[in-house]
Amino acid sequence: MPSTRLANLIDGRLQAPLENHWLDVYEPATGTLFAHCPDSTAADVDAATQAAQKAAPGWAATPSDERARYLNRLADLIEARLDEFAELESRDSGKPVALAKRLDIPRAISNLRFFAAAITAWDSESHAMETGAINYTLRRPLGVVGCISPWNLPLYLFTWKIAPALASGNAVVAKPSEITPCTAALLGELSIEAGFPPGVLNIVQGRGPTTGQAIVEHPAIKAVSFTGSTRTGASIAAIAAPQFKKVSLELGGKNPAIVFADADLSDENLDTIVRSGFANQGEICLCGSRLLVQRSIYDAFRERYLARVKALRVGDPQEASSDLGALVSSEHFDKVMRCIAQARDEGGNVLIGGESLKLNGRCTNGWFVAPTVIDGLSNDTMTNQQEIFGPVVTLIPFEDETEALAIANGTGYGLAASLWTTDLSRAHRMANQLEFGIVWINCWLLRDLRTPFGGSKQSGVGREGGVEALRFFTEPRNICIRY
Ligand code: NAD
Repeated sequence: MPSTRLANLIDGRLQAPLENHWLDVYEPATGTLFAHCPDSTAADVDAATQAAQKAAPGWAATPSDERARYLNRLADLIEARLDEFAELESRDSGKPVALAKRLDIPRAISNLRFFAAAITAWDSESHAMETGAINYTLRRPLGVVGCISPWNLPLYLFTWKIAPALASGNAVVAKPSEITPCTAALLGELSIEAGFPPGVLNIVQGRGPTTGQAIVEHPAIKAVSFTGSTRTGASIAAIAAPQFKKVSLELGGKNPAIVFADADLSDENLDTIVRSGFANQGEICLCGSRLLVQRSIYDAFRERYLARVKALRVGDPQEASSDLGALVSSEHFDKVMRCIAQARDEGGNVLIGGESLKLNGRCTNGWFVAPTVIDGLSNDTMTNQQEIFGPVVTLIPFEDETEALAIANGTGYGLAASLWTTDLSRAHRMANQLEFGIVWINCWLLRDLRTPFGGSKQSGVGREGGVEALRFFTEPRNICIRY
């Protein structure tokens, strides 16, 4: 890391926050302070927005293949320092370095390259009328847009927003999470090297209720793309609505993984089912935290599943042998431990885990929680209704398809479901009735960046990915010509 004090990127220059206030950034695996992040105010956001306003017309007028070249250059620069990014991401978030190397950073690079390619291949629609007229659609960039991202997949989700925003010709004011600000700061430095014109990409670091809210409130920011908690999403929607701002909200989840007796429970599939609960310490919005299992195989499945969960190694994120690292912050660690205590109070049987872990050596003060599996709780308990966002999975038996559907849909959230069955008709029938934005059948987290990504109900509004993201970041204009 270049310095322990991270900078904002405003108008193409790395800058300290105007009021010179800083936030502490901790390494979750050791509980130690290792960096300081700007505690930016509305004045910093305003400076960034003014720079973006100045840059926006020139960027919008830049041909899309040239915009794509900037994005590709940035992707190449990140790729050249992939190991450094992965180590930084791990240090900042507590996730295993190996996971950041395999998933987070490669995906951030893919996001930039994908939208660089997508913008050059994007067609406009046209509609011919038999009465002698033709319509075509012009899509213009919005101007200045805001991108706000969370801590669980820091660079992955940050680039998932800024890439389509920039590709479609907008100037951006972006804010990563103050809990994991490091890789976005490094990306900011590399964007200067990539040659982006000053003001096209601005990164303002700081807290949600101050810096983040200032982005949402700023009248010159025409749209806000947000990923984070449902509570924050509601407050953003309330501020944006009276200003008629476009919002894309990617929020929380309480996702079901549904295993039928006819599922192919090969070792590989079982490993995926385990991963779907515990990858990234369960801190992925798409994790299947409610594992629904058909009663006829419940006992046998539980035994095999628990044996696998028991084999997961929680350890120093720097070690290649660690499957799970530390939770992201002491506050989040406390929240997850409170949820486990609540599950016990509600009458749940903790089958495995259920406690924090004290590691030896440099990680002795880290925020580690043992992979935890609980059963004996009905679907209407708090444990099965609230997003825990940690390494905690509940097992819930069901009799048949009807009951599985009722339990799966019996949540306020609607982000993702996964379904394990070899019955093709059942798979299609269920997929049609599951009230989730994403349904994976016999897989999990298999992502094609062209597909619509997002949730229904309290999991969000709008979709990201592919043309959905390009549509979000542009304003369509219909031109009708009579001939
Ligand atoms: P969070 O809502 O606390 O914060 C997310 C971002 O919003 C951060 O950058 C934060 O600083 C900012 N923020 C906070 N308050 C704000 C405000 N009032 N105005 C503007 N910005 C504000 O969420 P988190 O704890 O960082 O992330 C975890 C949550 O994100 C979980 O609920 C998880 O399910 C969700 N998530 C959803 C998806 C998805 O694609 N649906 C993906 C990842 C995470």
